Amino acid sequence: MGYESRTQAIYQITDREPIPVGAASRLEDLWAVDVFSLSKMKQCLPKAVFKSLKKTIEAGEQLDVSIADTVASAMKDWAISKGASYYAHVFYPMTNATAEKHDGFISTQSDGSAIAEFAGKLLVQGEPDGSSFPNGGIRSTFEARGYTAWDVTSPAYLMETDNGVTLCIPTIFVSWTGEALDKKTPLLRSIGAMNKAATRVLKLLGYHDIAPVNSSCGAEQEYFLVDSLFANSRPDLLLAGRTLFGKPPAKGQQFDDHYFGAIPERVQVFMQDVEKKMYRLGIPAKTRHNEVAPGQFEIAPFFEAANVASDHQQLTMTLLRQTAKKHGFVCLLHEKPFAGINGSGKHVNWSVGNSTQGNLLDPGDSPHENIQFLVFCAAVIRGVHKYGPLMRAVIANASNDHRLGANEAPPAIMSVYLGSQLEELFNKISQGELDGQYIQSGKLDFGVETLPSLSKDAGDRNRTSPFAFTGNRFEFRAVGSGQSVSGPLIALNTMLADSLSAIGDLLEAELGKGTKLNDAVVAVIKETMQKHSAVIFGGDGYSAEWHRMAVEERGLANLPTTADALPVLKEKYIEELFEKTGVLSPVELESRFEVYAEQYVLSIEVEAKLVIDIAKTAIYPAAMRHLADIAATVAGLEEMGINLDQDNIKTVAKLTNSLTTKVSKLASALAKDDFDTIEEHMKYSATILRSLMDDVRADVDALESEVADDLWPLPTYQEMLFIK
Ligand code: ADP
Ligand code: MG
Repeated sequence: MGYESRTQAIYQITDREPIPVGAASRLEDLWAVDVFSLSKMKQCLPKAVFKSLKKTIEAGEQLDVSIADTVASAMKDWAISKGASYYAHVFYPMTNATAEKHDGFISTQSDGSAIAEFAGKLLVQGEPDGSSFPNGGIRSTFEARGYTAWDVTSPAYLMETDNGVTLCIPTIFVSWTGEALDKKTPLLRSIGAMNKAATRVLKLLGYHDIAPVNSSCGAEQEYFLVDSLFANSRPDLLLAGRTLFGKPPAKGQQFDDHYFGAIPERVQVFMQDVEKKMYRLGIPAKTRHNEVAPGQFEIAPFFEAANVASDHQQLTMTLLRQTAKKHGFVCLLHEKPFAGINGSGKHVNWSVGNSTQGNLLDPGDSPHENIQFLVFCAAVIRGVHKYGPLMRAVIANASNDHRLGANEAPPAIMSVYLGSQLEELFNKISQGELDGQYIQSGKLDFGVETLPSLSKDAGDRNRTSPFAFTGNRFEFRAVGSGQSVSGPLIALNTMLADSLSAIGDLLEAELGKGTKLNDAVVAVIKETMQKHSAVIFGGDGYSAEWHRMAVEERGLANLPTTADALPVLKEKYIEELFEKTGVLSPVELESRFEVYAEQYVLSIEVEAKLVIDIAKTAIYPAAMRHLADIAATVAGLEEMGINLDQDNIKTVAKLTNSLTTKVSKLASALAKDDFDTIEEHMKYSATILRSLMDDVRADVDALESEVADDLWPLPTYQEMLFIK
């Protein structure tokens, strides 16, 4: 830190050249070369073993452990042939991070030689010393054993660093008593629960041939790139992932000239490098572009099955961060790295479907598909209405609070955007204006033949909705850029499971009365919409009017901060939801509340400490130097009989005094530790600490406008956002 490193950074960055990443390769030469894919398994496994494994992967049948040795040995031979000497069980603890336990294939023999070995039991199960991963009280440290277990449905892959290659095996992470300590276990359970409920509904709709129903996910990832020379001079960026100080640049995003503009060359080379690595790992990177804010970009893959998509999303975040380093950038996945500048989200596109009925949220173009679409769409609407607060809770953390409920991006109120035609359609059904006959005749068209051509219009997008229907899927836009997509996917799958079983009950009862299928479906949708349509909203989600109306007239929850949202996990109806679907036991749910609440309080504490530190050791001295310089000049000039205007010196002196007072206030507030409950502590952090931090920031940012630029110790917004 210090103004010298800042000025040096500017010189050096101007001379930077894009890092060569080699010639462009053909997709066929890159695609999934580092993945132990189904096709590779087919080549190297005995027929019977491959068949059995494929059943587990594709039809969700339980793994036959007797084949593990054969699979492990083939996997090891393949990995070794590609240069691997280590393998790692990769798991996803209750943070947004990816964790790995590495072990060598090496096994020494009695004659002193060494061979590479990989037994089936090492593939199937691992035992990392996971005692320091957050577990929310599920394990006390004396019984700290946590197990990783192979997730057959997500393929193993190779990760290459400068020093070697590691075979990575995606796993679940559970306690010795079988409780989930991770994000993958409940995700797999939620897919199972949704599959069960969806299959039952499809049967009621008259289908006989029904393949397992899975959920799909395509996550659009927004991120910022800042030159590492600048980032390294900003302790706040390094430790908190966001700037705690910084006055807005003279030019922000008002001109919209960055959005979809030409990508700077250094950045484009970085992107190509990331995409190459993604392709090698079988991650289908599909789009890249500049985002709204200067220095902000987006990458999105083609969608995949939720479980694989989630693992791939974690890998994407890792690759973005690692590759950025190589190119002299720091990749910021924080939700709000720069105050006053657009934040970063992760749009989680989600749908459900199978290989026999297709995408169940696609309106399709035949009457039968319309019916199945209407049922599944109604189930989603019911889910958001009933469990909107849960959707808010699973995306709650200290950093996402800066977007949600902070008048940016989607609001903290969960609602559904359907598009006007679909909204009208559901309204008509709930008002009894459309009957089964009408739907069967394929006249769901408002003038055009079928639904899809109407609702897929991209111009009909509502950017202010947290959860929007976009033609054949829903897009959950309120997810934070640095968050794992598992939490949101678990919530969506679980609430859909619940809704589908409720709708299944209604449908069964209706059909039991002898009602014809189409009429029964319409009756059920009518009943469902009458109860739950309050959650549908197509207007401006940012407006004050919606904030009032949503709460007062529609009875929807507005949970602006994590302190408001996380306690939802402790509510009875949420506990029941997870228990009856078998996704999380009450103990597992409780542990999640504890872990996330703890993380929230800790992140704000770290930020508050940084605010105090930087203000005292970097900003205050800069202000004092500035005052000393001017005071000396003023005194010197006075001796010569020249009087200078002293406005600037007075302003800086006043701000410096005020800064000192505010920093002390924050420090004593931070010292408070006698909280009765973690809820109380969260509330305190969300209100008292955050506002005292903002107070300090106001003085620092005002000083930035007054203190001589060559004394200012922190790289400025202007520099970080515009110099590439
Ligand atoms: P936009 O910026 O217009 O929202 P993008 O093309 O950037 O669109 O991202 C859309 C994302 O939605 C992609 O990841 C895409 O693969 C994904 N997607 C498309 N269809 C589905 C589906 N049925 N289920 C899940 N995700 C989907
Ligand atoms: Mg989108």
